[in-house]
Amino acid sequence: MRSSLLDPLFATITTLPGVGPKVEKLFRHLLGRDDVPRVLDLLFHLPTGIIDRRARPKLRDVVPGSVATVEVTIDRHRPSPPNRPRVPYLIYASDETSDLIITYFHAKADYLEKLFPVGEKRYVSGTTALYDGMLQMVHPDRVVDEKGLAALPMVEPVYPLTEGLGLNQVRKTTDAAAGKIPKLPEWQDAAWLARNRLPPFDQALTSLHRPQEPEDIAPQGPAWTRLAYDELLASQIALTLLRTHLRRQSGRGSAGDGHVRKKIIAALPYSLTLSQHKAIDAIVADLGKPERMLRMLQGDVGSGKTVIALMAAAAAIESGRQAALMAPTEILARQHHKTIAPLADASGLRIAILTGRERGKERANILARLENGAIDLLIGTHALFQDEVAFKDLALAIVDEQHRFGVHQRLALTRKGEAVDILVMTATPIPRTLVLTYFGDMDISELREKPAGRQPIDTRTIPLSRLEEMTDAVGRAIDEGGRVYWVCPLVEESEVSDLAAAEDRFALLKARFGARTGLVHGRMKGADKDAAMEAFANGETRLLVATTVIEVGVDVPEATVMVIEHAERFGLAQLHQLRGRIGRGEGRSTCLLLYKSPLGETAKARLAIMRETEDGFRIAEEDLRLRGEGDVLGTRQSGMPGFRVARLDVHGALLPAARDDANLLFSRDPELKSERGQAIRHLLYLFERDEAVRLIRAG
Ligand code: ADP
Ligand code: MG
Repeated sequence: MRSSLLDPLFATITTLPGVGPKVEKLFRHLLGRDDVPRVLDLLFHLPTGIIDRRARPKLRDVVPGSVATVEVTIDRHRPSPPNRPRVPYLIYASDETSDLIITYFHAKADYLEKLFPVGEKRYVSGTTALYDGMLQMVHPDRVVDEKGLAALPMVEPVYPLTEGLGLNQVRKTTDAAAGKIPKLPEWQDAAWLARNRLPPFDQALTSLHRPQEPEDIAPQGPAWTRLAYDELLASQIALTLLRTHLRRQSGRGSAGDGHVRKKIIAALPYSLTLSQHKAIDAIVADLGKPERMLRMLQGDVGSGKTVIALMAAAAAIESGRQAALMAPTEILARQHHKTIAPLADASGLRIAILTGRERGKERANILARLENGAIDLLIGTHALFQDEVAFKDLALAIVDEQHRFGVHQRLALTRKGEAVDILVMTATPIPRTLVLTYFGDMDISELREKPAGRQPIDTRTIPLSRLEEMTDAVGRAIDEGGRVYWVCPLVEESEVSDLAAAEDRFALLKARFGARTGLVHGRMKGADKDAAMEAFANGETRLLVATTVIEVGVDVPEATVMVIEHAERFGLAQLHQLRGRIGRGEGRSTCLLLYKSPLGETAKARLAIMRETEDGFRIAEEDLRLRGEGDVLGTRQSGMPGFRVARLDVHGALLPAARDDANLLFSRDPELKSERGQAIRHLLYLFERDEAVRLIRAG
């Protein structure tokens, strides 16, 4: 049970003054929540800067362009002339050193007359400017008299905003939220806090929203660092709990006798590589042990992870149990289903697919068969997490391209069976610190070798000015029976504008190449997406214009040309993923990276690396070097996924300390019963790691 001490933080923001249904919706959007945000959500929306009003110069000394708070006497008003509302309303003011014009557009005269009584003294705070040689302040942020000055915050936080929600509203509401922060029992080690000069939680959170100094809101400052460490500790504790929990529930020894695997191997059109054999052996050995498996399979794009997933599933199924394979997108789930179907037929596995698209009778039927054991392997998307999805006896959960799923989701899947073994698969070689952050300790298998017969990809960089020429080349490739992906750029961080770019390009290419041209993007209906992929896979269309929906995992071995428009806008990992869609078959493949000149330094370096190497591990290292760890999961702007205040680039160095602290805590107090243990429970709730608390109780 959550301690009532935390109630004020878990109250919805509608309990704060001025937050009605309309404003609440806006905050929902701002804070990225699906439901009514809570006071805590608002408090974890941290400022990105401050406005410093402490400067109190005389008018003569004001630096135009700066924010200043000035003490002036109001001399006279010059209202906008009648019928000319566009001419601004001016208020002339002065001190003993110089003059100031305060300017308002579209203002109400009676409002301004009250705000600026002629002959009286006012404190006016805002951004100054020089206009026609005169010092001006347009729409001051604050206008107060002597009494108001005492209450005026001299340093104000600035927050990220969303349309319809202004800074003043966000600030006011957040300030009200800050007034609700309770004093909580300390969960950090007192000596550690003292040594690092970190404030208590309540003080840290308060000073981030009521800063006195710019330092108070700096990510590397003591307040933010304190919260980041809290969050890292909470996540390490949750992972430690998850791990102990999973390991404690002993596995059931689900490796079968190999009869299904044998049939699959016989049906494969190729022979497995040595690294594939090794990975499968490691997995099967894990499955057979009386402990739970927690293994990560890392293998570059195209290294053949899918067949390993299938073999792992087969081993579990041979022992009479079930397996689940979860993919991050609908396209991928369908593709896995399609690849696996013939092999399942040949080996007698009963498989089914479940995504958001299976509805009604069809869905009910799948769920029923799953529950009575008539399905051996269920392939799907997030839909597999849903409560209604019940297995007869789930032995193995395989999660593909797993970094897109959070701990909660993985936990949800493992709860669907007894002592479920877990295999996560990723194409991104993840640095050790990141593995630690997201997964805690895991066993790792690597596929270092590509299947035989792969030809090197010829990668070229071409300026956009040669688009025509390039289109001709694509035309020749198509005429010769080739298949071409054409990836359109990220225009902005918005799906809509990406889409527009892709649709425009599609229209142009279709005008030239006719019905052989296809289009696929994330906004399409599921069935249309499938149809587009299917048409391309079976050669009905030969040129597939796409947004980055094809980035992850799509497998059409016949495709040999990849065009990436505005390649300079993509990250290295993304370019590598995209290029990994070709070079999968016998034919020689070409990747054309179209860029807009002039190229910046980093973009130039990225494209050069792409030309130089196809080695995913090397590319990942270079990627790290170019942009720092924080961005490997594509998260620099928004922080780490699953984290609200900690940032890997700033606070990552604290991770080992948090891990050690979590381990120490558990060795001393595994059930969190001590005084510190009790305080830690608060911490876990605050950072939404309370699933972990339940694991303690489950014992
Ligand atoms: P990824 O590791 O990127 O998920 P896939 O599992 O999609 O890779 O495999 C990429 C392609 O390689 C598929 O077409 C698959 O059939 C093929 N493949 C997998 N293993 C081998 C192998 N040992 N020999 C030849 N082709 C293979
Ligand atoms: Mg894959």
